[in-house]
Order: sequence, then C-alpha cells, then structure tokens
Amino acid sequence: MKNRKLLMIPGPIEFTPEVLRAMGMATTSHVAPNFIEVFGQALERLRQVFLCPSGQPFVIAGSGTLAMDTAAANLIEPGDKALVVNTGYFSDRFAAILERYGATVTQVRAPAIGDAPALEEVEAALKGDGYKLMTVTHVDTSTAVGADVKGLAALGREYGALVVVDGVCAVAGEEMRQEEWGIDLALTASQKAIGVPPGLALVVAGPRALDAFHNRQIPVGSYCSDWTKWLPIMEGYESRQPRYFGTPAVNLIWALNVSLGQILDEGMDARFARHRRLSEAFKAAITALGMKQVPVAPDKTATTLTASYYPDGVDRTVLGYIKEAGVILAGGLHPDIKTRYFRIGHMGAVSPSDILATVGAIEQGLAQVGYEFEAGAGLAAAQAVLRP
Ligand code: PMP
Repeated sequence: MKNRKLLMIPGPIEFTPEVLRAMGMATTSHVAPNFIEVFGQALERLRQVFLCPSGQPFVIAGSGTLAMDTAAANLIEPGDKALVVNTGYFSDRFAAILERYGATVTQVRAPAIGDAPALEEVEAALKGDGYKLMTVTHVDTSTAVGADVKGLAALGREYGALVVVDGVCAVAGEEMRQEEWGIDLALTASQKAIGVPPGLALVVAGPRALDAFHNRQIPVGSYCSDWTKWLPIMEGYESRQPRYFGTPAVNLIWALNVSLGQILDEGMDARFARHRRLSEAFKAAITALGMKQVPVAPDKTATTLTASYYPDGVDRTVLGYIKEAGVILAGGLHPDIKTRYFRIGHMGAVSPSDILATVGAIEQGLAQVGYEFEAGAGLAAAQAVLRP
C-alpha cells in the first residue's frame, strides 16, 4: 500500500510529478544557456498566467510575505496614504508592512469574521481621502473569504489609487484578469495554485505601478526588495542576457517554468472553471455533512479553499483521525475563532478524485469522534456536482 498522505492544506499543495522532477534535477549554473532560456520563458509565461500582457514580472527567492514587502517597499514613500480592504489575517499583515515603510494606513474592515467590506464602504473611504494605493487580499487564507477584486479594482482606478492585490492564495486558481480589471500589481508565492514548492515570491507590476516606482523622490528603504536592483535582472533574463544581483533559486525556477507550462496548457479559463467546480463539489459535501462554513454567504467564498466550522461536539482532534485516514488538513488560523474551525485547500493540480478522497477521509474522521451523520452523505453530494 502507498504510504503517503494527501496534502490538502491551503499551501504548500500537492505538486505534479513533472514539477517535482525539476526540483530533483542536477542544479545548473544560473548563467548556463539552458537556464537563461528557462528563466526568460518563465517570465514570459507569468505575464500570461496573470493575464497582464503589459506587466513586468519579478521572480525573487522568498515567500509570499517577501512579495508583499517588495510591493510596499517600492510603491510607498513615507507619508503616503494607503487603504487596506481588510478581510482578515493577511490584510492585517499588509497593513503592518505598509506602515513599516512609512505609509499612513486606513483600514476598511469586514463587519464580521467571514464577511468582506461592502463596495459602498470602500468607495466612501476612497472618496474621503486621496490614497496613493489600496490593497485587497483576493482570498483571505485564514477565513476563505474571497474579495470582489474586479469591483474593488474598478473603484481604485476611479479614485486614482494604485490597486495592489495579494493573490497568494488565489493566482492561477481564482479568476483574476490583471490587465482587464485594472490591477496595478498582483503578487503570489510559488507554493499555492501556481504549483511549485515554497521559495519563490512572484510579482507582476503594471505600467502605473512601475511609473510610481520610477517617480519616487527617495530611495527604496529595503536593499533586498529594491526594484532598482531587480528590474535589470528580470529585463536581462527575459532578453536572454543573464545579469547578477542575488543568485536565483535555480531549481525552483526550472520547476516554475514547468508548472507555468502546465497551467497554460490547461488554459486559464478552463483552469478557473475547474477550480470553481471542484470547490462547489467540496462545499456541497461540507454542507451535506451538516457543517457551516466561515464565509457568511456563497458570494463571499473563495474557490481555492474551504473554511468550515467543526460541528457541535467536535474539535480539532478530528483532524488527527482524518490524517490517519490519509488526508492532511489545516487547523484554524484566525485568532478569534482558531479552535472552532478547520481549512481545506483545493487548488493547483487538484483532481476530482482528490476531492472524493478528502471527503471520504473527513467522513471517517467524523465517525471516529462520534459525530452522527448519514454515512456517505458528503460523498454523494460531491458526486452529484462532479458527475458529468
Ligand atoms: N497572503 C496570503 C493571502 C497568504 O495566504 C499567505 C500565506 N498563507 C501570505 C500572504 C504569506 O505568504 P508566505 O507564507 O508564503 O510568506
């Protein structure tokens, strides 16, 4: 019997064998001709995956937090006003990073955990003050709340704020059309729907964001995040001329290029549709098992992950039994409800059979902790959505 568990947390996710093979290959020089080609191609493909033909991609060794840091470091100057559309834990983090670079931050907060601020509230804030930049967390990984990025980006544009989207739990899973929707900077990390092991911070900056960077009055306050250092590197590799600032994460970039190729082979529209369908199947199973989700309404819910409250009388010990049944899930993250809910990531290369295996393991875990439910109800609900 295979002795491995299915990893269904909101990142790192399950990676394809082709991506993992690229991680295990002999490391090339960062200036080897075949690596230069791969890095150049990965940059071109990122533009396509973010649906931002006029964007400038940045691939830097680090995690999603570094991607957030580079956005703030390069776009904010001390005293700039920034608006954070706050849907939870990672929006708080963006506010802290912006403040670290000297921004005066105003936050529009969700009225309750699991909810998102209304567009009218965000518009009122944008109207009231001149903001240089606004941030939106596409999917708040702590609550599974999905923001109306398209609507928010349109508002940001209307009121002249640069629109920055934290797409760490979203890009290449959740529908996002960076250029068409007027998003000035979108960012993610490799370990989520992009489908590459942890270690790459990925950013695509549009023309308005680059203009704001070029028009800065004072130097960027972070040496390692400074686009003055990184822009020539990205432009260099894309024109197939290697340049050095910091050694690129060679194997991760090989793996990134493989994964981006797989994503584009699937096609962005097909990929968004697959994520929606699998999410719908999984959420139907959770409901059929008598569990309530953290997002307050279906239109506030992400497709890349599900956050579900434990049923009455059940706590996180159920996660141990689910793991014994073969599937690793994540506990709660939002400090106010941490012990009351759990999270399931279903993004990237996830398949219908992964969804069914996960629902089956959850049913086994629930049965073991004595929760009463109709056996197979979750599986039947998921199958009803998945059946062709
Ligand atoms: N933003 C969001 C929405 C996230 O989900 C995460 C990671 N879970 C981060 C930012 C931070 O990314 P990392 O852990 O890779 O630094």
